[in-house]
Parts: sequence; structure tokens; C-alpha cells
Amino acid sequence: MTELKKIDVARVTDKVLDHAQRYFRGEGFIEIKPVMLGRVTDPLDGDPGSAVLKTGTIEYGGQNLSLMQSMILHKQKLIAEGFDRIFILSPNIRLEQPQREKTGRHAFEFVQIDFEIAHAKKEDVFELVEGFLASVSKAVETDCAESLGTRGLKCIKAPFDRYHVKDLEAEFGPDWETIMSEENDQPFWALGLEREFYDDEKNNYDLILPEGYGEVLSGGQRVHETQKVLERMEAHGILETNREYVEFAKQGIVPSAGGGIGVDRLVRYFTGAEHVADVQLFPRIPGRSVEF
Ligand code: ATP
Ligand code: ASP
Ligand code: MG
Repeated sequence: MTELKKIDVARVTDKVLDHAQRYFRGEGFIEIKPVMLGRVTDPLDGDPGSAVLKTGTIEYGGQNLSLMQSMILHKQKLIAEGFDRIFILSPNIRLEQPQREKTGRHAFEFVQIDFEIAHAKKEDVFELVEGFLASVSKAVETDCAESLGTRGLKCIKAPFDRYHVKDLEAEFGPDWETIMSEENDQPFWALGLEREFYDDEKNNYDLILPEGYGEVLSGGQRVHETQKVLERMEAHGILETNREYVEFAKQGIVPSAGGGIGVDRLVRYFTGAEHVADVQLFPRIPGRSVEF
């Protein structure tokens, strides 16, 4: 493959973002501005896939504020306040361990197309995301042909296959994500993963890209029963460090489902880039120094 130019990466990224905004608005969502600092953020607890060294924090005005790892908790707060369908182009900072450089899909700063739907079930999310992926891949293929060069993009066909993680682990072992991603030429859903406290244990999902590109989305139906939320936080040892969320949970969580699509990973897949560093104009890669 010819070397990817920055302008080509930027054109494909621009198309993905433009399409996401049109698509989600067309599905009745409103776009919320991102929040970058919080009294709370996604603790990334209980997700064996997560390997952050620590949560980034700054001290300001006498408060300790966390750099946003994901807006899940803020999404839930808005849903409880009566918002119905929201999406955010959300920048996240995750101080990943340096060895994650080798995966080719980890940056320590990236953007999610993060969305949440009040009173939704996982099937609502599947249909929404399948429609998005099928249409955005068509848009990229049609409008960014020059930027894609020799990258032959497979036509994405919905609906995607669904598998339970238990079955994948039984068949392929702990490396199921890599093996299945390499073997498939269409994205697929993996269900029922081990998860953060806020995701329903059974009704959560990852979307895995084909051709070895791996995970591009995580999400779930959210735990909304206050007692259950508190029990799970306690079991994960994060009750004391998330008092603001505990207070929120006591006032009543409104059921919802949602997820977040990693933009950098999606662009890497579309362009066929070797490493996510190749699709970031200002690479932020664990284990590598920042140049500008
Ligand atoms: P992984 O298992 O690949 O480390 P994760 O499960 O920890 O990812 P999530 O918490 O599920 O990540 O984040 C939601 C989405 O955000 C991911 O599916 C991915 O698309 C994107 N994402 C998460 N971490 C990163 C990262 N370090 N670099 C780039 N994109 C990321
Ligand atoms: N955005 C994801 C979600 O909504 C959370 C995450 O980043 O893991 O579930
Ligand atoms: Mg995940």
C-alpha cells in the first residue's frame, strides 16, 4: 500500500464525522458538547480489556478533577434529567500502559462517537449501529475514493452476526477477539462480556471489526436499580471514590442503552492503516513521546 498522507487521513476522518452527525441527527438524536473534566469519569473498573496506568487528574479551584475517560456517567445524568437520544463527539484521555503501543489500536487521546438512548434495549443499539456502519462505509468509499487509494474496502452488510463471549472463549480461547477479527470479513457483535459497574452483565456488547482491526465499540444496557448499582460499585471497590455518582444513583437512574464508537479505530480500518498512530494528525501513542 502507498504511504497514507495526512490530508487523506483528514479527509476520511472528516467524512466519518460529517456522516455521524447527519446520521445520528436523522435518527432523532441531538448533539451534546463534550465534557472534558469531571468530578467523576468512567472508572473503567472491572473491564479486563482496560489497562490504564491511572486516571489523569488536575487540581483546580480547590477541587480534584478527572480527565474524561468516557462520558458514560455524564450521559446517564442527562438521560435522568429527561434527555431522550443524545450523541457526543467526545475526546477521551486514557493513560494506557506503554506496552499497548504494540496493539496498533491504542492511543492515549482519542475520540468516541458516544451515544445514549433512554429506555432502549440492546436490539435498538444493534439496529442503529449497523445502519451507521453500512452507510458510513458507503459514504467513505464513494466520496473518499482518491484518499483510499488501493485500499479495497469490503461492502459492510447488516445485520451483523452475534456471538456470546462464553461460546467464543470455548471455541477460540482467550484470544477470540484477534482470531475472529482476522478470520471474518464483516463486523460482528460479541455479547455478555465482563464489564464496568454500570453495564448490565448479560446485555452488554462489543462490536469487532473484521480483517484483524479488532474492537471498535463497547456499550450496554445500563444497570439502573439503585441497590444493584451500589452493590456492584462496592464489589469493584469504587464506592468511596465516586460519591457524586452514588448521590446521583440514589436519586434514581433512568434505564438506557448506548455505546461509543472509536473514531480513530474506525478511520484506521477504512484507510487500512498499519497503526492508529498513522491516522492521528498529532499522534498520542502510549510508550511514544509527544512531538508537538
Ligand atoms: P480495548 O479493550 O481495545 O483496550 P476498551 O474496551 O478498554 O478497549 P472501551 O472502554 O470499550 O475500550 O472504549 C470504548 C471505545 O473507545 C472502544 O471500543 C474503542 O473504539 C475506543 N477506545 C478505547 N480505548 C481506546 C484507545 N486507547 N485508543 C483508541 N481508541 C480507544
Ligand atoms: N462509551 C462507552 C459506553 O457508552 C463507554 C466506554 O467508553 O467504555 O458504553
Ligand atoms: Mg471495550
